[in-house]
Amino acid sequence: MSEQHISPAAVSTAAGLTPIPGNVDPMTVARPSLVDGVTPREDGRIDLIGLPKKRIAELFEGAGLDVKAAKLRAKQVYHWLYHRGVTEFEAMTDIAKTMRPWLAERFVIGRPEIVEAQHSSDGTRKWLLRTADAHDFEMVFIPDADRGTLCVSSQVGCTLNCRFCHTGTMRLVRNLTVGEIVGQVMLARDSLSEWPKNAEDSRRLAALMDDIGDDDDEEGGYHPSGRLLTNIVMMGMGEPLYNFDNVRDALKLVMDGDGLALSKRRITLSTSGVIPQMERCGEEIGVNLAVSLHAVTKEVRDEIVPVNKKYGIEQLLQACADYPRASNARRITFEYVMLKDKNDSDDDARELVRLLKHYKLPAKVNLIPFNPWPGAPYECSTPERIRSFSEIVFQGGISAPVRTPRGRDIDAACGQLKTAAEKKSRAEIDRLLAEKEAALLG
Ligand code: SAH
Ligand code: SF4
Repeated sequence: MSEQHISPAAVSTAAGLTPIPGNVDPMTVARPSLVDGVTPREDGRIDLIGLPKKRIAELFEGAGLDVKAAKLRAKQVYHWLYHRGVTEFEAMTDIAKTMRPWLAERFVIGRPEIVEAQHSSDGTRKWLLRTADAHDFEMVFIPDADRGTLCVSSQVGCTLNCRFCHTGTMRLVRNLTVGEIVGQVMLARDSLSEWPKNAEDSRRLAALMDDIGDDDDEEGGYHPSGRLLTNIVMMGMGEPLYNFDNVRDALKLVMDGDGLALSKRRITLSTSGVIPQMERCGEEIGVNLAVSLHAVTKEVRDEIVPVNKKYGIEQLLQACADYPRASNARRITFEYVMLKDKNDSDDDARELVRLLKHYKLPAKVNLIPFNPWPGAPYECSTPERIRSFSEIVFQGGISAPVRTPRGRDIDAACGQLKTAAEKKSRAEIDRLLAEKEAALLG
């Protein structure tokens, strides 16, 4: 790919998106300007993936069905698309045989294209995916004994530039659409052969979802009865809260009992701290929140998570305390990447405990050993340092497990995702990061 030679404005104009002006808060990056909420493909057919039932009904009506028939067909098609995962209208057996070609002439059932699938020695799988307008992004699946977690991307690239994150060295190419976000979950179900095959499967799935209690690692208790994909984390490429509307609409399809039917308690959205969207996230999506804190002083967080210059630590923690769903049963996860001699001292650990207690946060801390990438300006803390940090936080009464890095051998671990085979010099990376920061603060 050669995104690095093209300005984001040129890319987005070519892709039919609203150009992204230079000096703006990245939050104002518009969602793609769609014709009536949908983007017809080159052959004029409309991709139904990403659309809610109501919109599908409107399209059917626009294509000539009367209101009642459009509503009924939309209900059936929606069920086949999102609950059963079919990719051909021909497979929709309760729709009249003559109706199926009528649908296929006008509509398609899309999936992101798979460019490459990799398998790590620890079982982690990574897919390189491509949008219809040829932008690459990644999705990762992490199987564990009692769960399977899909790490979903929200953007191609990222407007932010956390200094320890490989995605942060990419430009934002564009926001992913609703279809491209929910399409990742659907592709994973395809690859894992996990769609319910009949009504009995669906009933079991529903019962399973009802059955789910609190999902904290250390509390356990839940057994997915052989299901592989049980959890979703919005922790792939991009900052989900800078693509709020599309992420919300995609997750609504994922959570809908008649759609992909995954419980909101099994979905976690991770943000670097985009405060203005956090409350909306709780109110309009209602999923678990993870916050990339990573530092306890302004000086260090300004350096490693530059969005901190706009939204500081105190403001961020207050927004967490106000998060609509935060309670003891639904704790907020604070992610803390362990960077050698940067944020990993015992004093840092004590300050972390003090801050979380000061804001009375129902919190859990995830300590993430830094995953290296070529040219990264940091090193991972030593195991002894990480252990000592973790113990201090535990002694402060806050759970602080150390996350085992997964899929490092295929660059699938946290912060290693980056698609374009860009070979940039350090000077070029620094220039790009300076540009992004100016845009953020402008
Ligand atoms: N943009 C969102 C979600 C994607 S990043 C966010 O920043 O929260 C998912 C997690 O991986 C974040 O906590 C991020 O800070 C962390 N991360 C990024 N680069 C990393 C690296 N090189 N090693 C370990 N964790 C990293
Ligand atoms: Fe973007 Fe998250 Fe990476 Fe920061 S850590 S650059 S917000 S993807």
